[in-house]
Parts: sequence; C-alpha cells; structure tokens
Amino acid sequence: MNLILIGAQGSGKGTQASILIDRLGIRHLSSGDIFRNAVAQGTPLGMELKGYMDRGDLVPDRLTIQLILDLLQAPEYAPGVVLDGFPRTRDQARALDDALPQLQRTIDRAIYLNVPRDVLLDRLSGRYVCIAHQHVFNIKTKPPRVPGVCDIDGSDLIQRSDDTPAVIEKRLQTFFEDTIQVVHYYRAQGKLLELDGNQPIEEVSLHLLYGLGLEPVQA
Ligand SMILES: [Zn+2]
Repeated sequence: MNLILIGAQGSGKGTQASILIDRLGIRHLSSGDIFRNAVAQGTPLGMELKGYMDRGDLVPDRLTIQLILDLLQAPEYAPGVVLDGFPRTRDQARALDDALPQLQRTIDRAIYLNVPRDVLLDRLSGRYVCIAHQHVFNIKTKPPRVPGVCDIDGSDLIQRSDDTPAVIEKRLQTFFEDTIQVVHYYRAQGKLLELDGNQPIEEVSLHLLYGLGLEPVQA
C-alpha cells in the first residue's frame, strides 16, 4: 500500500505515521529522511542535491522524485510506503503520479489530517524545549511539573527561534496556500481520506484505520 500523509506541522502527522507503519508493516519516508540519506550516501544524485542545499537553492522536483524512486526500489519498501512531506505542491503530486508507474506503483490513498488553523497555532506556540537536552514540552498539552523547568534534567525551558508566533504563522500560511492544493488534487482523483485531526490521538487513529478498511486491532 502506497500512501501519502498530509498535515500541517502540529497536526499529529508523526504520531499517525508511526501507527500506520506498525499496523501495515510499511515504511515511513519523510522528505527530510530522503535528503539526509542521499547526502550521507554520497551518490551522484546525493552530491547534486548537496549542491542545491549548500547554495540554499530550492531542490528541483525531478531530483526529489528520482531520489524517491531510487529508495522505493530497495526491498524494504516492497510492502509499501507512507510518504510524508512530499508532494507539497500540485505540480509535485502530478510529477509523482507520472513517475511511479515506472516502478509498477501508484498512490493508493492520500490521508489528510485536517486541523483548524487556530488550533494548530495554539498547539505550536505552546512548544518549549529544555536547553540541556532539547526535551520537548507544551504548555497546552504537555506542561512541565514546574513552570519553565525541564522535568527530566532540571534545565531551563526556552522557545525555539523557529517556534515564535511570526515564524509559525508563516509556515501555516504556506501550508494552507500551497500544500492544501495537494489535498484538492487527490480529492479530485477520489483517493482522499480526510480525517478530523482535532480529536484525541486514539480517535484519529481509529478513523484512520477504518478509513483504510483495516480493523483497529491486529488479529
Ligand atoms: Zn531536559
């Protein structure tokens, strides 16, 4: 089963991805992993990628898709994949659809974790990390026992520079303007499974598994 997981930062996408890989025995492939793996391997494609990243240029879609195709040919991806973080635009979704038949694959379903923008903003702006080990807390959902202090090592909690309201707003804006087009793209193909992500994790994963035609508990 080849799946695409779409959700803004803070939508709980990572959690649902791990539930899917456990339940389906398929691999999780995030755009970050794809890039890190390619650069670490030092393949010709990896070197080309590194060039773009070192210059701070946008990685061309054909390069990202070639990297995905290369990875999907490895035996561990035979049972399927959950793609996360790619495609991010309608053009990328189209290019991926054009490329996958080379591997006799298609995207079976695209899963969208729909969480309202104000809820995402609320979740993301509550994030704090400790200065000693980057342990993550959230004043809304996972507060430390003592305000401003890490439960685990007692160091101070700070807000990361990329977790400030202005930066979060900008990321969410990109999501709701560009990535939402990917949701429309797969909806038009009849492949979209849209879930209300503004519920407890267990509720979301129940709907996710039912939506894919799976029993929630493995027999
Ligand atoms: Zn800590």
